[in-house]
Amino acid sequence: MLKLEYSYLSLPDKFYQLVKPTPFIKPELVLINNELLEQLNISLKKPEDMPSLLLDSQSSFAQAYAGHQFGGFTKLGDGRAIVMGEYITPENERIDIQLKGSGRTLYSRGGDGKATLKAMLREYLMSEAIHHLKIPSSRSLFVAKTGEAVKRERENDGAVVARLMKSHIRIGTFEYARHFGSTEDLQSLTNYTINRLYSEISQAENLVLAFLQKVMSVQIELVVNWMRVGFIHGVMNTDNVSISGETFDYGPCAFMNTYHPDTVYSSIDTNGRYAFGNQTKITKWNIARFAEALLPVLHPDSDTALQLAQACIDSFDSIWNEKYYQMMLLKLGIENPTPEQYPLVDELLKLMQTLRLDYTNTFLAFSYDTGNGDNPLNGPEFKPWLVKWKNTFDSSNGVVQARKIMIANNPAFIPRNHLVEEALDAAVDGDTSLFEKLLLVLRKPYHYQENMGYYTIPPNQNFEHRYATYCGT
Ligand code: AMP
Ligand code: MG
Repeated sequence: MLKLEYSYLSLPDKFYQLVKPTPFIKPELVLINNELLEQLNISLKKPEDMPSLLLDSQSSFAQAYAGHQFGGFTKLGDGRAIVMGEYITPENERIDIQLKGSGRTLYSRGGDGKATLKAMLREYLMSEAIHHLKIPSSRSLFVAKTGEAVKRERENDGAVVARLMKSHIRIGTFEYARHFGSTEDLQSLTNYTINRLYSEISQAENLVLAFLQKVMSVQIELVVNWMRVGFIHGVMNTDNVSISGETFDYGPCAFMNTYHPDTVYSSIDTNGRYAFGNQTKITKWNIARFAEALLPVLHPDSDTALQLAQACIDSFDSIWNEKYYQMMLLKLGIENPTPEQYPLVDELLKLMQTLRLDYTNTFLAFSYDTGNGDNPLNGPEFKPWLVKWKNTFDSSNGVVQARKIMIANNPAFIPRNHLVEEALDAAVDGDTSLFEKLLLVLRKPYHYQENMGYYTIPPNQNFEHRYATYCGT
């Protein structure tokens, strides 16, 4: 028996639908995350038992939410995911366990509520990669085939992924409360969320303002970390922004190879709204939507509420800049930087863009001094910048310490797009060996080994230009 709780159901019933997953025709476990099972202290006689343990839930539910999708407001909800319950970890943390791809709910609109095996394997791989890059993320406990075919452009194996998060509450949940509920509903959701995720702010003078500031801060922290590793989420709609500050909804996400701020892989993001370099602006925009949703509970006087929200949003840029440059300078081995050192980052990125350098490998070369004859860092264009950079070590710390910092902040291994596709395609055809190997490498992304060079090679330009990722497939 898996002991599950359902604290979310203490909210007014407009926040959820009680619903059970569509029974699987023939469940078949494809992958199980033993490391995570151990962390959760879940012991199984047979790994194959895990899906049915979860399906035993007494009060599974789908969550109602809304959201701004590519800028437009829509009523949404878990259309193909069901929270099976909340699990209390050995550290006494409450986490949601959700089954994604588990059938239709009240919120499915025109969709079938299902997911393809390839999409669920992608979610598993990418979420594990982000987690091991030391960035907050949803986790994946298992992937199981449902035994049913799922029709997209062609027939695919249907599958579910078990997704774990501190909570699936998102900015869109607050937008839903604001637009489709009463102020009391919004207040209940706010109290519930603060209690569950941020009890440390409970003594704040203005609790809701402290909550808004906290969520802004964890989002900045999160997205700055995405920038650190070249991650492009791809669909930063407000319904995909978690209040807990965890990365989730791995649809059209990808990692950038050649550095360019306009990099986009998502097939539907034709205007580049969610391009790599736009993730800053979009984070601010999303937080502004969150602030708007909170207005009625931010202050009883609506003008004061607006002023408080505006002041918070106005502080975004300076908080972002400080965190962003601090992080980027850690990638260059510089701790506790001064603002005079910030231009080093901008100049480097400009050089990388002009020289079309691989984002990850350039920083890797700094960390390990992997310079050889072909290394663009040895080229004349880089000389003046390199001199400036190396001079900073005298004023801040020595080269040895700098290397330590760089190695801890610059991954050697990211899920390169071509490797991800190769591994997923083979896994869908029944051979999970490439997938397992890639996963093994991605579980130690900062542990560079020269004999693993294969995993550091960027895709060829042909592949890269044609590469497109898809949403919700
Ligand atoms: P996403 O792009 O995954 O964030 O999904 C956006 C919205 O579409 C959410 O409300 C999902 O629940 C819903 N959705 C995505 N795929 C499906 C599907 N196959 N069936 C039903 N709803 C879906
Ligand atoms: Mg979503």
